Amino acid sequence: MILKGCCTFVIIYIPLIYKKRKINIHIERNKTKVIIIALQGVIIMTKIKVNDMLANYDKKNITIATVCSHSSLQIFNGAKKEGFKTLGISVGAKKKFYDAFPLGKPDEFFMVENYKDILKYTDELKEKNVIVIPHGSFVEYLGAEKFLKLSLPTFGNRDVLVWESDRNKERIWLEGAGLRMPAEIKDPHFIEQPVIVKYHGAKGGKNFFIAKTYEEFKKRIDRRKLFTIQEFVMGTRYYLHYFYSPIINDAYKLKKGSLQLLSMDRRDETTIDEVQRLGSIAELEELGIHPTFVVTGNIPIVMRESLLPKVFEMGAAVVQESEKLFGGIIGSFCLETVVTEELKFKVFEISARIVAGTNPYISGSPYSELIQTDLSTGRRIAQEIKYANKKNLLNKILS
Ligand code: ATP
Repeated sequence: MILKGCCTFVIIYIPLIYKKRKINIHIERNKTKVIIIALQGVIIMTKIKVNDMLANYDKKNITIATVCSHSSLQIFNGAKKEGFKTLGISVGAKKKFYDAFPLGKPDEFFMVENYKDILKYTDELKEKNVIVIPHGSFVEYLGAEKFLKLSLPTFGNRDVLVWESDRNKERIWLEGAGLRMPAEIKDPHFIEQPVIVKYHGAKGGKNFFIAKTYEEFKKRIDRRKLFTIQEFVMGTRYYLHYFYSPIINDAYKLKKGSLQLLSMDRRDETTIDEVQRLGSIAELEELGIHPTFVVTGNIPIVMRESLLPKVFEMGAAVVQESEKLFGGIIGSFCLETVVTEELKFKVFEISARIVAGTNPYISGSPYSELIQTDLSTGRRIAQEIKYANKKNLLNKILS
């Protein structure tokens, strides 16, 4: 048992050290590996079964809960439309802001001093029959280890975090699914085309930079941080919002369950997306003004229809590969892609839960309207929980 646990740490969890921003533990190169291994050991040892978490739940009175940020308005709005009670976990004076949006306001607030304290209140939250909907900020505020240890039934498969948050494992997953990713440049001396340099643990693209030569790279790089160098893919960006249900079979069929495309967006990133108002990037860089990739908002978008079959093929392959690797992704996920002028997709990232790019579609998107009117990702999540509850299948969609 102990030996098995140790092997699992080494194979699955050590690479957590090389993680990016969604895992909120900051660890420097070659430091504290032992502590991390021990931490992950705790996670494995304390992994709690969904059925145990749900054991004393009143299934007729489920409450949908999330942290008040990111896509919470949409999640609460969708849950209310499906008849659920809603609970917003919040810090400070956030409540006031929700008064401005009554249809996105949770029925109840659960105030905490610090999001990391949520673990202290799991018994109280269980009494409210809470099912947690994690979003990007939820995981970030709580921190990865605490999120993995949270003893509350949580929508989706939490094991995905390990594969999603480590750039090397993410590449194994996506390339294993047959997707094309931007090439990785292992040695900066071989920069022969524009590259994007990504720091691990950077928040929302912070301090990422573009370099076209080794000299440019050398000038900008902060060697104290871990980084990855990727081919900068020329093309247009599409962030594809999928929903995979392992228990409902009425959409794009997979071996098990079915896949939907609910919407897509393009992120608005400052300053790269508007910097040209001031001059060309080359001109500005000469003046020491470098573009940044910090997400500030999301823009709705649709894609030429002839590309949609490929969109489904990619989504299906990602789901199927995930089943082989870690028991399968569940629910919402997003492939972050660039479409090149040859109309080929390159996927630079996966987000394995509801993304903020779904927020423009609280009343449905041009795609979800073809499934059901007024269907947001938040509402689709609530529908999945409602259906699973009715059919006694909650353990198939929660972890
Ligand atoms: P998040 O976790 O919020 O998705 P992140 O910090 O992991 O962000 P990425 O999504 O990998 O960062 O990249 C941030 C932005 O940089 C992207 O939204 C995109 O605009 C740009 N970008 C990333 N990789 C590439 C690439 N290979 N080619 C071109 N642009 C890229």
